[in-house]
Amino acid sequence: MSSPPEPLSPGARVGILGGGQLGRMLAMAAARMGLVAHVYDPDPRAPAHALAGATTVADWDDAEALGRFASAVDVITYEFENIPLAMVERLSAQVPVRPSARALEASQDRLAEKRFLAGIGLATAPFAEIAPGSEAAAIAATGLPSILKTRRMGYDGKGQARIDDLAALGAALSGMGQTSCILEGVVNFSAEISVIAARGLSGEVACFDPGLNEHRGGILHRTQVPAPLPRSVQTDAVLLAGRILGALDYVGVMGVELFVTQSGLVVNEIAPRVHNSGHWTEAGCAVDQFEQHLRAICGWPLGDGARHADVEMTNLLGGDVETWAALAADPTARLHLYGKGEARPGRKMGHVNRVRPRAG
Ligand code: AMP
Repeated sequence: MSSPPEPLSPGARVGILGGGQLGRMLAMAAARMGLVAHVYDPDPRAPAHALAGATTVADWDDAEALGRFASAVDVITYEFENIPLAMVERLSAQVPVRPSARALEASQDRLAEKRFLAGIGLATAPFAEIAPGSEAAAIAATGLPSILKTRRMGYDGKGQARIDDLAALGAALSGMGQTSCILEGVVNFSAEISVIAARGLSGEVACFDPGLNEHRGGILHRTQVPAPLPRSVQTDAVLLAGRILGALDYVGVMGVELFVTQSGLVVNEIAPRVHNSGHWTEAGCAVDQFEQHLRAICGWPLGDGARHADVEMTNLLGGDVETWAALAADPTARLHLYGKGEARPGRKMGHVNRVRPRAG
């Protein structure tokens, strides 16, 4: 067996593709660890730039800027999964990209994702690829009602339509133009949970406690830990997440979203990055998801993700951020704002962690 690569030392340069709030929180953790975050984002106002040690403002298809970025860093990671696979493969030839292109491939196309999950024996919603003329067969495979989703670029419930009959499927498909889609059966779930799981460079796995997620209008509204679920369900969720990481030979933090059903856990989707539903770890654990991700991709030992508090994380979307002064005056609230200028409706502007001593 070959020995694992040497860990990157403090002072190492971590390239982050994407300068949104997740990139910003990674940059904050990097600074705390003595690492230098180098953020790449086309938008000069992207919120991570302000906290990075170095920045590149260039388009995603600027091969020269990407090449310079790769030669200026020791490892590259990303804060969102909708980046071109070919670009990540090219960067990987220059410098390690973690999580790998393989993990990205398995998660950025809903069809590939479902096939991968089913292939390792995990339950998913019934699904069918939509090909021209296959609409009736797809409905036969998934049952009704079902949900039409774009295969790529969907997030926060975007690019989705509920389907109650064949005519509705035809209409929804015309509305989506030429975009490739997948049809999914509606899962009858009692709760949505997620596990934030990490796998280190030498294969060790550490998971944070599963959180209970509440969505509003397709966007995460609140995450609560502990999730009010039997211990056995929580253990199943953690074991299942570990299986996904192992199958991908994954390095880094992954968000695994699950439906809790009467017949067990069903995987909704996986995100090869730090995750909104893991923001509670900032206030509930000695090592949060951002530090854990950096530890993993830099080859450091994984940190202790044990939960020392009960936490409720609430997103501040759009105009919610105007309540900042009241939240700042609330001794039970830990306010985290992302430094974004314009509070457009639905835009993630910050979050609040409410912490209580761990009950049990
Ligand atoms: P997604 O972007 O796929 O995570 O979907 C956004 C939200 O839509 C999920 O958090 C669920 O609340 C709901 N949803 C997505 N897919 C399904 C499904 N197959 N069955 C039931 N609800 C779903």
